[in-house]
Amino acid sequence: MPEGHTVHRVTRQFVRSLAGQVIAASSPQGRFVEGAAQIDGLQLTDARAIGKLMFLGFEHDRWIQVHLGLFGMWKFAGDILLFDFPAGPVKTSSRVKQSREFLQWPNPDAHLSRGRKRSDPTGSRHVSRWRVSEEEAPPRSTSDDAPEGFPPEPVGAVRLRLLGSSVVADLHGPSKCEALDSEGVEALAAKLGPDPLFDDGPAAEARVLEVVRREPTPIGVLLMDQTVIAGIGNVYRAELLFRARLNPHTPGREVPEEKVHQLWLDWSKLLGVGVETGQMFTMEEVDDPSRRKPVTRREDMRFWVFHREGLPCHVCKTDIIAEQIGGRTVYWCPACQA
Ligand SMILES: [Zn+2]
Repeated sequence: MPEGHTVHRVTRQFVRSLAGQVIAASSPQGRFVEGAAQIDGLQLTDARAIGKLMFLGFEHDRWIQVHLGLFGMWKFAGDILLFDFPAGPVKTSSRVKQSREFLQWPNPDAHLSRGRKRSDPTGSRHVSRWRVSEEEAPPRSTSDDAPEGFPPEPVGAVRLRLLGSSVVADLHGPSKCEALDSEGVEALAAKLGPDPLFDDGPAAEARVLEVVRREPTPIGVLLMDQTVIAGIGNVYRAELLFRARLNPHTPGREVPEEKVHQLWLDWSKLLGVGVETGQMFTMEEVDDPSRRKPVTRREDMRFWVFHREGLPCHVCKTDIIAEQIGGRTVYWCPACQA
């Protein structure tokens, strides 16, 4: 299941590639024909992520809400600018009110890397591809291959195709894809807890603190509850708890205020690095950008505890354990997180 950083990255790719354009929307697979018809021919005016939900706003108060779920995937193709995404928060006064502010990111051009934006004299277009699901595939340029036509034919079961002037985004297998108006968006957004990259910092943190500190529910469950904090999935949950040296079973109301504060700040930091790099860095790389390499190394060396059951803790050598909490497996060190 994609965690919050992935959804923010996809959203930023929409802003970068399709914002302000008139979109040809269709459902090649046929399962979202009516929804696609509602936005077909309209300008994309907004794209925002709150936790794991993405909202795309169009003219005339039309919105599409997408939750990728376990198997969902976006595939972008066309003249995609390949770049590191700015990690800064979105500035907004409202979760729903459409605003031009959303089309502007902090210094976007400073983050451009070599976008392969070129056409050859015959008019055929060099297509780059970028695929995002639970794991993100590196952007791939096909400019060395034979030129492809644009737009490329849909491949597989494409629930929703959003076609702009030079980029197409195909949605495959989402757990949710629905057409809404702003009232519908408002209702969904209201159910979500704060997202550090979307909501105002102090107020958001205060809300998290209030909820966590009144709940008898284990903190390991609360962190995954999207109504408490939006965007944390199973990997970040385990790693955040280890970094805070917190036992996942600790009831929310017994977690010291200072620890809740620390968890919120830490999540803000990890999420920002995740958005910037596309990688879930949780170890030394978080504070040392020079160590943030694309991760190909073994998973058991990549995280503090996630997927490390039975292996020695990186800190104290005690075996990491795995157990079910709140229906999902949590990994933790019984010594460090006693
Ligand atoms: Zn340990």
